[in-house]
Amino acid sequence: LTDKLSRLVKQMRGQARITEANVQDMLREVRMALLEADVALPVVRDFIARVKEKALGQEVLGSLKPGQALVGIVNKELAATMGEGVADINLAAQPPAVILMAGLQGAGKTTTTAKLAKHLQEKRKKKVLTVSGDVYRPAAIEQLRTVTAQAGAEWFASGPEQKPREIALAALDYAKKHFFDVLLVDTAGRLAIDEVLMQEIKELHAVLNPVETLFVVDAMQGQDAVNTARAFKEALPLTGIVLTKLDGDSRGGAALSVRQITGAPIKFAGVSEKLDGLEVFDAERHAGRILGMGDIVALVEQVAQGVDMEAAQKLAAKVKSGDGFDLNDFLGQLQQMKQMGGLSSLMDKLPAQLAAKAGQVDMGKAERDIRRKEGIICSMTPHERRRPDIIKATRKKRIAAGAGVQVQEVNRLLNEFDQMRTMMKKMKSGGLMKMMKKMGG
Ligand code: GDP
Ligand code: MG
Repeated sequence: LTDKLSRLVKQMRGQARITEANVQDMLREVRMALLEADVALPVVRDFIARVKEKALGQEVLGSLKPGQALVGIVNKELAATMGEGVADINLAAQPPAVILMAGLQGAGKTTTTAKLAKHLQEKRKKKVLTVSGDVYRPAAIEQLRTVTAQAGAEWFASGPEQKPREIALAALDYAKKHFFDVLLVDTAGRLAIDEVLMQEIKELHAVLNPVETLFVVDAMQGQDAVNTARAFKEALPLTGIVLTKLDGDSRGGAALSVRQITGAPIKFAGVSEKLDGLEVFDAERHAGRILGMGDIVALVEQVAQGVDMEAAQKLAAKVKSGDGFDLNDFLGQLQQMKQMGGLSSLMDKLPAQLAAKAGQVDMGKAERDIRRKEGIICSMTPHERRRPDIIKATRKKRIAAGAGVQVQEVNRLLNEFDQMRTMMKKMKSGGLMKMMKKMGG
């Protein structure tokens, strides 16, 4: 997909305005991208219509091409749609502030309850009580007890014959008497929308008058997320969404669907089954993920300005053909990094998953003393640059003297070169160079 999008971006060079004619293909690709990311069809239609309206007739500023500008608009609109009104948990209520968790079975309600307990205790210094309204599965109550203990919060034990409503009232009473700031209410799982259970959670809502009613939804739930979201929105006044399992490999299109259908802000993202795996939802990053690319516009710009495209391509080809990455290439890389404002700033613009992979290599270090490194490489003979492996003790001493540095620094550079060579190999499989190559045509 990114492949096709970038080709289209390129085709649209030299046109100063976004018109119906020149964006049609692009919009079709964007539509495909959204569908591939499992955004629900009606939501996609709506979104495309909105983007089209915003984009048509828009002047294309500066050196941007219409295609690039459109990708920018799409990205921004996506982020705005998902990101408006984002805020931490609202606790503005007479204590205890009640938070009600709603969602399908397996969505991650119990896990998220414990994650929130931990978050509220540690980050916001609140005294937190949890209670399970799931009276149908004793194991679910036990699960909440275990994870609440892990979170360092307190769990309220219910009686064996109690109804959810009675349990909720008892927990509320206990929380008041013991000065808890927050009461987190986990609820029974629904495998699908079930009228009886819906009625039950509505009743719980009426009794508890929660300040937050959070809809917990699995990011891997695709098209169906719309129906689930609609049913819960009709039953409850949702105040926020928690999108779980974002550590999975789904593109997370459910975020857009659910946001659009419920109108509630996406507050948190679950990124692991562990209790510290809860992050404030980042709409911009998520927009990139849905489109299957990072901030392509900024990247395209940066690449166009900063990189000698031909050199980058040659380098990419070389790495690919396995000819070996030598110190001349390394030097070229250093120089390009300098022009682009640093490899790490480029990394920020890559899709999150890709960046995480690349982030395993220490980029910051490679940036800091580029100049010194250039000096060292320039003190080598052409032969040494092509065959770094021949640089042993005597040569190192000579190079160090020539560059005015210690031998250790030469060693360090050679080590980094090795690291870079390793990184280039990683990049080869779906990385930056490939991307630059594509965009360069
Ligand atoms: P509930 O039925 O809605 O209460 O869902 P649970 O909290 O029991 O979670 C269902 C499964 O999803 C469990 O195996 C959890 O460990 C897992 N889970 C929940 N949230 C996340 C998450 O953000 N990432 C991952 N990888 N797993 C999660
Ligand atoms: Mg549960």
